[in-house]
Amino acid sequence: MSLTDKYNRRIDYLRISVTDRCNLRCMYCAPSGFQHFPRFQLLSYNDILLIAQGFVEAGGKKIRITGGEPLVRKDLEYFIQRLSAIHGIEDLSITTNGTLLKERASALKKAGLKRINVSLDTLDSARFKKITRSCVSPETVIAGIREAKIQGFKTIKVNVVVMKDINDGELMDFVKFGTTEDVTVRFIEYMPFDNREQWKRYYVPAGEILTRINNSVRQEPADFPGGHSPARYYPLLSGPGQVGIISPVSHGFCSRCNRLRLNSNGFLQTCLHSDQGMDLRQIIRENFSVQAVKEAFQKAVMLKGIRGNMGGAHKYMYQVGG
Ligand code: SAM
Repeated sequence: MSLTDKYNRRIDYLRISVTDRCNLRCMYCAPSGFQHFPRFQLLSYNDILLIAQGFVEAGGKKIRITGGEPLVRKDLEYFIQRLSAIHGIEDLSITTNGTLLKERASALKKAGLKRINVSLDTLDSARFKKITRSCVSPETVIAGIREAKIQGFKTIKVNVVVMKDINDGELMDFVKFGTTEDVTVRFIEYMPFDNREQWKRYYVPAGEILTRINNSVRQEPADFPGGHSPARYYPLLSGPGQVGIISPVSHGFCSRCNRLRLNSNGFLQTCLHSDQGMDLRQIIRENFSVQAVKEAFQKAVMLKGIRGNMGGAHKYMYQVGG
């Protein structure tokens, strides 16, 4: 069984947002006046497990847990343990801001989580507070990354949203950080959401990011076996390791898209940059069955457009699940 859309793309990856709540307020993710979904709309863990089961039976293979900040949702490890028991999930990963990782890495590993991506946009304390509008320090996140490695998580990826005049002076520091901490750093272009104009002020194109680190990496990206990854990986000149660049704005990767996104309120979004999708919560309220979910996924993939309309969706990442 497999899920294939109208453009012959195989869809086998579901990003599940378990909450739209977060303990940070990153400047690019949580606009002023942002609003959370009402609590009664949030899917329960049982709802999400049913949806995951239906996804896998329809042909899905990979699941990423995200948010909001997934680690702020209570009993996440218990949920992951049940999720990892679903036969057919080949890859189970999480994207986290890392602030709670030090205390949780061991339980996440035991629960069956396979891989971790950590978002970290600056290594400077004052800048971290400014970007995240919090009083957390980057050391807390770094301690979380180190603990995750101690617990046996391999190939941890560190995602850095590059922002002009905010953190773009730190690109080389991050390249060094990747080597010293033995993690894969990935620079991400700032994406527009909800058609707001602020992104233009901060946007740094991938070509410029590459130019700024060109003393440290090969100029040609390596062929990457995971053909659906949105990142292009540039091997380090100094030894093993690589730096990733994710360029959704300057080089869209829609033709390689293999994913759907489940919002924490049960809306199944077919693309990060489109409002299109279907209300899975409504579907499972009417018929709480794996079969109903399977059929919903089969219909949903057919709604996927050939490409996203950058800035066209009216939700931010904290709502969609980044
Ligand atoms: N709280 C978790 C975290 O911080 O990794 C997961 C959710 S967060 C919304 C997921 C990812 O979305 C982060 O790596 C964040 O940097 C990215 N993100 C959010 N808004 C973005 C934007 N406007 N442009 C590029 N990346 C963005």
